[in-house]
Amino acid sequence: MRLALTFILAVLLSRSVEGRPLFRNEKKAFNKLLVISFDGFRWNYDQDVETPNMDKLVKEGVKAKYITPPMITMTSPSHFTTITGRWPEDHGVVHNMMFNSTTLSKLSHKTTQNRSEWWDNGVMPLWITAQEQGLKTASFHYPGGGANYSGQSVNRSLVESYDHPDSNVTEWRENIDIVMGWFAKEDFDFVTLYYGEPDKVGHRKGPETPDRKEVIKQIDTTIGYLLEAIDRHGLTQRLNVIITSDHGMTTVKKKPEVDEIKLSNFMPYIKLVYFDLLDYGGFGMIKPRKGKEQQVYDALVNAHPNLTVYKKEEIPESFHIAKNSRIQPIVLMADLGYNLNSQVIFYVNKGDHGFHNGEMDMKTIFRAFGPDFKKNYLAEPFDSVNIYPLMCKVLGVTPAPNNGSLSFTEGMLVDTNIESGANGSRHHVSSNLVAAMIFYLFLQM
Ligand SMILES: [Zn+2]
Repeated sequence: MRLALTFILAVLLSRSVEGRPLFRNEKKAFNKLLVISFDGFRWNYDQDVETPNMDKLVKEGVKAKYITPPMITMTSPSHFTTITGRWPEDHGVVHNMMFNSTTLSKLSHKTTQNRSEWWDNGVMPLWITAQEQGLKTASFHYPGGGANYSGQSVNRSLVESYDHPDSNVTEWRENIDIVMGWFAKEDFDFVTLYYGEPDKVGHRKGPETPDRKEVIKQIDTTIGYLLEAIDRHGLTQRLNVIITSDHGMTTVKKKPEVDEIKLSNFMPYIKLVYFDLLDYGGFGMIKPRKGKEQQVYDALVNAHPNLTVYKKEEIPESFHIAKNSRIQPIVLMADLGYNLNSQVIFYVNKGDHGFHNGEMDMKTIFRAFGPDFKKNYLAEPFDSVNIYPLMCKVLGVTPAPNNGSLSFTEGMLVDTNIESGANGSRHHVSSNLVAAMIFYLFLQM
């Protein structure tokens, strides 16, 4: 009798959810997820530098040939698309600068990080959605992680200080150890970790320089440290990792190579422009003075062969920005490498982004590895908006409404039948049922 019952128990246990222990909370049956973003990591930065650790990850995980960030190819808009699965016109973070075109205020990227009024526009980032479904989440310097969403904050959030040094390699490793501790000792389920490089070196020195290559080597060494830290914390079998970025980088074109774009050359600037967001790479916006909209448009539309001008109502739908009220009446796009200058040309950046997301220099990286990802899997390019449903799937979270699709990414998963979201409850029912049966059998013994 006992032998028979033991056999039945063994069979039932072997059918437990995903082979995981039977009595764990349903949500905990899913593996943990770490998302790391290295700002401004162009899709091919690993191809002209020795990157042994990233090469190892190609064999041990998933690599997409490249991914396409949303328009606008800037840090805050793109990171927020990744964490919400929504286009910028829906999530409302349409620029790195927080601005008000009525009061003329402008706040830089880093100073916006605690300003909920900039980030909280009715769209829930994954941290909050996951928390509402019982997961424990954290953000380490990730854009938007320091804001409140409908009054809810991320369980744990570290916000980058204004003068945070982006290039301190020792600190990069310390941050990995902190995050590993969150997973291993405090049972966090989902953490996003952000690094400001190689964006900074790309801006300051340019993407085609030995300096940039050196930073890529440092990042690769840091990824090696990450692999070792995952192992050291005993997380190898239960932590999935996605490594991605927000946009690429291109060399800024300057005189005498090109005829630079300076808008005040084409119109009486102060007389016509009430507010602008310019001098910030290849994307810009203008709010003309009252009644001057057509005049501004006419002055700029054929002003420069490498400048494209849109009235707000003419912005192509494929940009996914036009619907948002923060988009100003005139939107400007410069060709790759041409900066949009308003009245003065600031020779600060040698590299920049913000250009059309169809340009290869704006494409960025996607890597993934861990228990739920296939090994040695090369994925076709996809839009970064599709990372969101993949994260939800891996975490077992029912996604909030989003613009992404799992169809672009589910081929990366070992088991595409990992049940998540609404279907996840079936696991819940079946595991409870099995537990009840075992309990009944014990009573009979
Ligand atoms: Zn940048």
